[in-house]
Amino acid sequence: MSPADQPGRFTATVLGSPRIGPKRELKKAVERYWAGRIDADALAAVAADLRRRHNADLRAAGLDSVPVNTFSYYDQVLDTAVLLGALPERVAGIADPLDRYFAAARGTDTIPPLEMTKWFDTNYHYLVPEIGPDTSFALDDAAVLADLAEALADGIPARPVILGPVTFLLLSKAVGTDAPPIDRLAELVPLYENLLAHLHRAGAEWVQIDEPALVADRTDEQIAAAREVYDRLSALSDRPAILVASYFGSLGAALPALASTGIEGIAIDRVAGSDSIAAVPELTRKHVVAGVVDGRNIWRTDLEAALAELGTLLGSTGSLAVSTSSSLLHVPYTLDAEPDLDDSLRSWLAFGSEKVTEVVTLATALSGGVEAVSGAIEQSRQAAASRREDPRLHDSALRGRLDSVLSTEPGRSPATERRAAQTGLALPPLPTTTIGSFPQTGQIRTARAALRRGEIDTAEYLERMRTEIAEVIAFQEGLGLDVLVHGEPERNDMVQYFAELLDGFATTANGWVQSYGTRCVRPPILYGDVRRPQPMTVDWITYAQSLTAKPVKGMLTGPITILAWSFVRDDQPLADSANQVALAIRDETVDLQAAGIRIVQVDEPALRELLPLRAADQPAYLDWAVRAFRVATSGVADSTQIHTHLCYSEFGEVIDAIAGLDADVTSIEAARSHMEVLDDLNAAGFANDVGPGVYDIHSPRVPGVEEVAESLRLALGQVPSERLWVNPDCGLKTRGTAEVEASLRNLVAAAHKVRADLS
Ligand code: GLN
Ligand code: ZN
Repeated sequence: MSPADQPGRFTATVLGSPRIGPKRELKKAVERYWAGRIDADALAAVAADLRRRHNADLRAAGLDSVPVNTFSYYDQVLDTAVLLGALPERVAGIADPLDRYFAAARGTDTIPPLEMTKWFDTNYHYLVPEIGPDTSFALDDAAVLADLAEALADGIPARPVILGPVTFLLLSKAVGTDAPPIDRLAELVPLYENLLAHLHRAGAEWVQIDEPALVADRTDEQIAAAREVYDRLSALSDRPAILVASYFGSLGAALPALASTGIEGIAIDRVAGSDSIAAVPELTRKHVVAGVVDGRNIWRTDLEAALAELGTLLGSTGSLAVSTSSSLLHVPYTLDAEPDLDDSLRSWLAFGSEKVTEVVTLATALSGGVEAVSGAIEQSRQAAASRREDPRLHDSALRGRLDSVLSTEPGRSPATERRAAQTGLALPPLPTTTIGSFPQTGQIRTARAALRRGEIDTAEYLERMRTEIAEVIAFQEGLGLDVLVHGEPERNDMVQYFAELLDGFATTANGWVQSYGTRCVRPPILYGDVRRPQPMTVDWITYAQSLTAKPVKGMLTGPITILAWSFVRDDQPLADSANQVALAIRDETVDLQAAGIRIVQVDEPALRELLPLRAADQPAYLDWAVRAFRVATSGVADSTQIHTHLCYSEFGEVIDAIAGLDADVTSIEAARSHMEVLDDLNAAGFANDVGPGVYDIHSPRVPGVEEVAESLRLALGQVPSERLWVNPDCGLKTRGTAEVEASLRNLVAAAHKVRADLS
């Protein structure tokens, strides 16, 4: 592009697309490929068909710029590592590129995979590139160019999407060096320069370079480095127009920095972000892509409010396009696949394809005037009014009860008093237990499928689940565990199970969203006030307890985790929704206690997940999250022992909050971190019982007795024996029965051994 050229200024777009296929076609094809049932060509054909149909749909819906290269066989960050020649050395020996790619994603018998972690504050997980002395970047852009060529041949106004160099390096981890990957930014610039030249020659008018890392806290140095990158890329003469895309929050100081460069466009999140556009005069020379349609939640856009927002932006920008706030990767494809939603709830929602229509409607209003779309605006107004007025969103009795619970700061008696009240549990030192779920056996899956197909009735299904529970209790008795669980066979998922039983939640039939690779989830929709019409777990747990003299733990999912894995209300603060869920869980704990259950575990594996990206927003979140947990767990007597469980994350930033939960017993993932988490807990003044995981359930490996004993001795260096529990890292549902049996046997033997040393 020469500076004199004006790039075509598109008016309606989205920042990215779902890619699993409306019927999860990609997931199924990739898994068939892994199983050796189809070859690479057949997989490629499925992928091409999905891409081409989706692009055609977006074009037909009226987008005048369509994002391409948003497809991935597994993960877009891994794709970027391939693009930049940054796959780890250990997969280099695999000759076939597709198999090499999947080896990096999932490992092989001999090669460990890349680590996986959460994509900002979403539920999508990306693979973490490893950057070290071995990494010698080299551009391999054949796949990006092929994607572009495919779309252009179909007449699609294609805009390739590339993960930006700053974000790519900030999301990578250093391996074999202490130097942070971002130190190598300058090395990547020439690769992006070549890529841009190639894309331009191949016919791309625009390229979208994603830099979401710039919405988190960044040092002045990092922002300056980003500015320099875009100064250099925009100085090229042979390139498409550059749109730098941000999403998931405000750019803050990065906005004027980007605006000062020669890039043509900036995409700004107007849902999660609140940057002042008027305060950045350079934006009057840019094409601003305004993300006014929420890309990651499922609510219908209030078109009038969005138009008002666009109206204010108009005066402060060179030109304006309407867009989603983020890629549509995070929402299901379409409401059309949901036959079972009630009419009013449906009228409040917009999934992927409905959001595309909203974008086009808003763009039409912007260019042709509101009259052109008055019908759609009227519908949006009616939907918003019906949602505001629906009694299911305003249960005053429930809200009154919640207010009274919250009128005193929720909490329990001091931990020492509780400890004294719980001696009746008569537990040995270093009590052994598990986290809740036991292996999902073939029998469980068969029963669930048979129920779904109507081959067995509910009574028969419940009976089969009771049989499973009886087996799991007998199994644990045989192993000699001290605190037993019922094994959770009746739960399809630890959040969906509760969402199905609570008022205020809806579940979808086909609302699949990619979680990672071929794993997809169907997040429930929290739309109304949360009420628990009846006890949810009491029958199961009391049945399990009736089979044994040992204590059986009641097993509940905590309010933060239920919210983190659902689509949540956007019409009230998340804290209010959290407290409502907490009240339902609190009622369940009280009912469990009344039914004779003496230990209740409230899992919060997602506590860290909802942590805001900016440090300034974190204390407020941790404050309400901890309060919600305390609402959930402070309704019981001192004699009832409350456990919690945390996993999936680095706990450093939330360690004070973990102490603040004030559970009597906290089981926490630790097997891979060699008990380091205990130091952190001590530093935070944590003085309750703790069960650092001593068996890594993410691997099929069976830990030996001495290995577990060694971990326990290590833990005893930091936690006195009166406060130490013995348990795995997480639930066992993904593991096989044989390896679980061997591992738990070793875990119990190790506990006995270390106990003997104590006395
Ligand atoms: N109780 C749940 C289980 O054991 C906890 C799962 C989790 O931590 N993600 O499956
Ligand atoms: Zn866990």
